[in-house]
Amino acid sequence: MSPFPENLLSGYQNFVTQRLPTEQSRYRELSQKGQSPEVMVIGCCDSRVSPEVIFDAGPGELFVVRNVANLVPVFQPDDNAHGVSAALEYAIQVLKIKHIVVLGHAQCGGIKAFVDDIEPLSPGDFIGKWMSMFVKPGETVSQREHETRQQFVTRIEKAAVLRSLENLMTFPFVKTRVDAGKTELHGAYFGVAEGSLSIVDQTTNEFSKVYQGALAS
Ligand SMILES: [Zn+2]
Repeated sequence: MSPFPENLLSGYQNFVTQRLPTEQSRYRELSQKGQSPEVMVIGCCDSRVSPEVIFDAGPGELFVVRNVANLVPVFQPDDNAHGVSAALEYAIQVLKIKHIVVLGHAQCGGIKAFVDDIEPLSPGDFIGKWMSMFVKPGETVSQREHETRQQFVTRIEKAAVLRSLENLMTFPFVKTRVDAGKTELHGAYFGVAEGSLSIVDQTTNEFSKVYQGALAS
């Protein structure tokens, strides 16, 4: 059997010696009472976009689902297994989550694969099939005139957040709670290079940065 990655072992050692002592009581409490996070984050697998790091969250605070390009599928009850849908079902029906945040980000590899229409990476073409859910039947996605490639990619990265928010409302149990004002949906976008966070204005669907002045340029 291969040795466990050394950097993970040393990281765990740091956790045990530095972080755990300050959070031990919290872990014990969570162990006894169970988790009751108020926020669910649907983010990308990307190693640079960790919700717990970005939102400085401790144990028990965030219920997180991560997948390629932070996509939420449309509600599709059938005989197949649906990972995001299962997590949503638990978040809403059991945890009674108050906020669902879809967190997109810059330089998203999933979005890049989609806009570049790359060749399948394996015979299963799992990424291609996964990303295809971003597009509605009959919809075409293409670079606009006077739009640079970078602007196009950024636009699609943000559109993926908006599409996921739209798809969330196709789940009856989500819609019921949102309509009752018990759960709120939010969109956000993380700028990897500068560490910026933009939030979606629900009325205009525009993204605007928060704490802009505090960011190092
Ligand atoms: Zn990504």
